[in-house]
Amino acid sequence: MSRICKKKPAVCTDEPLSNSNICQKMALLRNILSSAYGPTGRMKQIHNNVGGHVLTTSTSTALLKRVDMSEPLLKMISTAVQHHTTCYSDCGLFMGIFTLRLIENTQNNGLRTAAAAKVYKHLVEECNIYLKGDSCGCKVPVDFSSSDSIIALAHSMITSKPACMLNSRETKHISSLIAQAFLYSIHCNTSGVSCFGRTVTIGIESQSVSDSSVFQGLLVDVPEMLQPADLERLGSGPFKVVLFSVSLSGDISEFGDVTLEIHRGVDPEHDLLQQLLKLGEQVVMDKVSLFACQKVVHPILQHYLRKHGVVVIERLGLALMEPFVQLTGAQAIASLCASVPAEAFGMVKEFCLQSCGSRELLQLLPSKDAAVSTMLLCHRNETMLEELKMTCKRAEHVLRLTLREPCALLGGGCTETLLATHITHMICSKASKIAQALSISHSEFIMAVKAFCSSLQSVALSLDHDGQDCLIDMTYAHRWVPDIYSKTCSCGLVEDRSNLEKTPLNTAYHTFCPVSLKNTDSQPRVLDSFSAKLNALNVAVEMANFVLDVKYVIEDIN
Ligand SMILES: [Zn+2]
Repeated sequence: MSRICKKKPAVCTDEPLSNSNICQKMALLRNILSSAYGPTGRMKQIHNNVGGHVLTTSTSTALLKRVDMSEPLLKMISTAVQHHTTCYSDCGLFMGIFTLRLIENTQNNGLRTAAAAKVYKHLVEECNIYLKGDSCGCKVPVDFSSSDSIIALAHSMITSKPACMLNSRETKHISSLIAQAFLYSIHCNTSGVSCFGRTVTIGIESQSVSDSSVFQGLLVDVPEMLQPADLERLGSGPFKVVLFSVSLSGDISEFGDVTLEIHRGVDPEHDLLQQLLKLGEQVVMDKVSLFACQKVVHPILQHYLRKHGVVVIERLGLALMEPFVQLTGAQAIASLCASVPAEAFGMVKEFCLQSCGSRELLQLLPSKDAAVSTMLLCHRNETMLEELKMTCKRAEHVLRLTLREPCALLGGGCTETLLATHITHMICSKASKIAQALSISHSEFIMAVKAFCSSLQSVALSLDHDGQDCLIDMTYAHRWVPDIYSKTCSCGLVEDRSNLEKTPLNTAYHTFCPVSLKNTDSQPRVLDSFSAKLNALNVAVEMANFVLDVKYVIEDIN
């Protein structure tokens, strides 16, 4: 029986930002993102409606990927944030909160959207000039010749992800592992051109975080039946390696969707096994010591190879194929008919057995200077391990981006307070001139500058989740929390002293030019990725301007 449904007309919402339902949803999203922000951010648990896996996280990517937005404008913001984190691995929450605050502040101040958009565009350009310039007070150089700044950057990344559930000792340990893995992944070849290698991550559950470590080369599960004595018998390396990407299970059904013509009296399975054994003989004659296969290897072939002293690794999996190729220099062979061409063989320098808890692993060391390493991450349970794996991967990515632009921004909200103060001070003397150039009224211009700077400050305010008053000092414009034990500002660069005047961040105060702290011995403890924050700032303004400009939302509801 067929049913004929009349096509429903599209739903059109005009002036979506004056719709209270949409504004409420926007405020809710901003609350979700703000409450997850920073080292003391509150965790979010995400359940799907069919039971199963429960995710505990505070990262924007994990949150936004799993929360289905029904509102097209919110969906767009969410997509933009996710796209940013895919490229930059950091500052996703900053971008989301800043975008939504800009939109809200524009609405609350009753600003004309076109005028606001012009001013925001101008201000973000001023921010770019300041942040990229030499006189920028929120920027510190990252010195790659010392591990301290690399570890500090990794440390900030990890502490901002509380769902990793690490204590301070564990945080230090993981930060130095990230720095170590990053250094292993830098590959300098003879021509001096450096390129990045690979870090493979292995997660082990129900194991203490302090058991996590980084190994040079690749770690794979120890092949069944492989005994330490077998490795001793091999002697010292380097060892010849062969790698297959095709299944060697001898199972005809694995050929996929092909038509086979089988002649009477021929047993295809038997013939295939003979072919596999011939391949085995050839490999033994070629003096191969390590026989690896992405998929399954037939037990008889495995037995034959082992009998001839060859180490067999099967079911390597697609994810490990590329790092394996990088490590050994072998070419993956996709057929089992021909003999192996000489150039397809690879090498490993050595095999070692490593163990972590109940897991036994075989370490393959590169024979050349292949920049492949394995990060073994341990944690008490699956959810925490997932968050830790994701955070470490991101932190390594941020370090790679920093290598391109070796500087970082002050973390802990100090960049936001300083930038807002700088912009307010700088603009105030030439407000009339800029307003005229943008062809808007002076008062409108001042209001838009306020909306922009208070949006920036509200990101710094979002770092607090305990209802404390955040403060700003009236000399350097850094962010402070009223804590008797803390002797520095939030980023750690400015030391407290009795005559340092501070005022609550969310109140009105006179404008001033922040004093630069160029020649200080103290080092910031909390750093943010420069390129990630710069991009997040720019895309946030672009997104906010775009959303403010939307007059109609037309949805097909069929
Ligand atoms: Zn600071």
